This record gives sequence, structure tokens and C-alpha cells, in this order.
Amino acid sequence: MEPVLDGHNDVLLRLEEAARAGRPRSFADGDDALEVDAPKARAGGFAGGFFACYAPAELGVRSLGEIERTDDGTGWSFPYSAPLDPAQARPVTFALAARLLELERAGSVRVARTMADLEAAVAGDGPPAAILHVEGAEAIDADTLAELDVLHAAGLRSIGPVWSRPNAFAHGVPFRFPGSPDVGPGLTEAGRRLVGRCNALGILVDLAHLNERGFWDVAALTSAPLVATHTAAHALCPTARNLTDAQIDAIGESDGLVGVVLNTADLGGEWSGGGGVGVADVVAHCRHVAERIGIEHVALGSDWDGARPPVGLEHCGTLPVLLGALRDAGWGDDDVRAFAHGNWLRVLAATWAP
Ligand code: ZN
Repeated sequence: MEPVLDGHNDVLLRLEEAARAGRPRSFADGDDALEVDAPKARAGGFAGGFFACYAPAELGVRSLGEIERTDDGTGWSFPYSAPLDPAQARPVTFALAARLLELERAGSVRVARTMADLEAAVAGDGPPAAILHVEGAEAIDADTLAELDVLHAAGLRSIGPVWSRPNAFAHGVPFRFPGSPDVGPGLTEAGRRLVGRCNALGILVDLAHLNERGFWDVAALTSAPLVATHTAAHALCPTARNLTDAQIDAIGESDGLVGVVLNTADLGGEWSGGGGVGVADVVAHCRHVAERIGIEHVALGSDWDGARPPVGLEHCGTLPVLLGALRDAGWGDDDVRAFAHGNWLRVLAATWAP
């Protein structure tokens, strides 16, 4: 079975919310409600991935507000999420990071601090590798960036300046279909300093959820390859969250990576799930990126435990289904291996040790 590295999951949030609700779930033993857990990882060849620390507006609440449909019923949008008070975000971000460290102490994951940690997991040596990722930098003080250094010492190796809301660093894209990512201004001064500090520390700057002006600002500033960990192709499905062809081209030119998300809304445009979105749609998005900038610039960024996955790819135990579909579409062994883990290894090596 081909080992897979994955660009995004939200299992830490699931575990945190379940524990706070008094119904703890076990990553090690597995749980029907989890899309990423140890038994499913073993079954599917999930060798590791980005484990997000994301602070929602309210723990345990999934709502994005009231959906607004276009007159013909095919389009939809949600109100742009309000900024989150850093004083509210910080304890949640740190609680999720602590939860990952707890999984590490229990031997359930290996927090990936070096390339050797990732390579061991890909070689099948030990538990899955977990890349500590912060999704939305509200927990970081915009003046001192002190929490960034502290989190880095704990293992932080990737950060998205924003989730789909504005903060002191940048502006996120709204949830909208059809929609353009070209909404709102670029990076703030603090956002520019954040990118510089990430470059200096060897922390990946994730472009997922960032609006288009912010994307181009990072592209102009950063010394690292451009990476959007969990997104899809705007040319196939024009949600505001997805990358335009110009953005995809820039990622290719930087020798970066697009992690294709397994979220029905971004793959097929239907918000409420279903809509016939399945494995073929995921393959179509992967092929679009590969045909534009090469197979060496496309990988997986599932968003399991944080999105609505397509039929047939409901959890990380289904990874062989996805790889099989890529083979059926004509990808050779080397292509599938690059998609599965080779591309992540190359880009992370270039990013972590600049
Ligand atoms: Zn996300």
C-alpha cells in the first residue's frame, strides 16, 4: 500500500470538542465519528499529515450562519465571518496543540519536527507523522509574534495566516459559489512580518483560505515554495475558496504544491453535500492542476474531520480508492507516489530548512 501524506485534517478539533462535551473519543482505538484515527490510518496507508489547530467562533458549533441562495438555486453564499478576538482564539489554539502533544506522549502520533520524522513515517516505521499546523493566526500576538516562536519550539511547522475571516495579519475568503477570491485587501504590516518570521524559522506559510491579494503579497515576499494545503481548482468549480489558474501557475513556478481538498462544496459547487460529487471529481481537480503545472505540484489536502467529503472518500481508510482512481486515469506508479508523499517531502524539505 502506497503511504500517503495529507495536507489538512481537523481531528484535533473533533477530539477537543468531544472531550469538552463529556463524550471523549479515542484517536488510538478509533471512533466511528472520526475520519482520521489510528485504525483507519493503518487501513488506508495514512502515513501522516497536517493536524490543524483551528479556533472556531464557538466550540461545538459548526454553523457558518444563514445560507443565501441565488435566484436560480445553484449559487450560495454565507455571511463573511466576523473577526475572532485573539483572547478567545489563543486558549483554543493552544488547547489543540496540547492535545497533539498528548497524542505524541501516548505514542499515537509522531510530531514531525524534522524531515527524518516524516521519512520514518513514510517508511512505515512507527505511528503516523503529525505536522503541527495553525489555521488562522489569531493566537499570535501581532506586535511581538512571540507565540509563533513558542509554538515553533513545541513543533509548529506550518501556519495559515487566516481562516475565512479577517484578522490582524490578512483577510480570508468568504464561503461563496460562484465567487472570486479577489475580495478585500492584502497582507497587513503584521502579516508581512509574520511571513518573514516564518521564513526565518522554517515554518510553511499556508495560502489556503487567504484572499487573492494576500496570496500575491505572500508570493512576492516569501523565500519558500508557495503552498495551498487544502483547496481546489477555480476553473472547475468557482468557489471563492478555490485557486484561479493564475494562482496555480504561480505555485508551479515556485516549485510549490496544491493540496486538493476533499470537500464537496469546493469540488462540485453543491453546498449541502451530495450533488453526485464523488471520486471522479477529485480526480478531475488533480488532473487539472497536474496538466497545468505538472504532477510534481499536486498532492492531497483532505480536510477530513473538517469538511464534507465526497461519496467513497469518507475517511482516511479510503485512501487506496483515491490512488486507484488516479491509476485508472492513467497515472503511473511514479506519478501516484509523487502525489501520495513524494511532493510533500520535497516541498517540506525546501521549506523547513531554508
Ligand atoms: Zn480549512
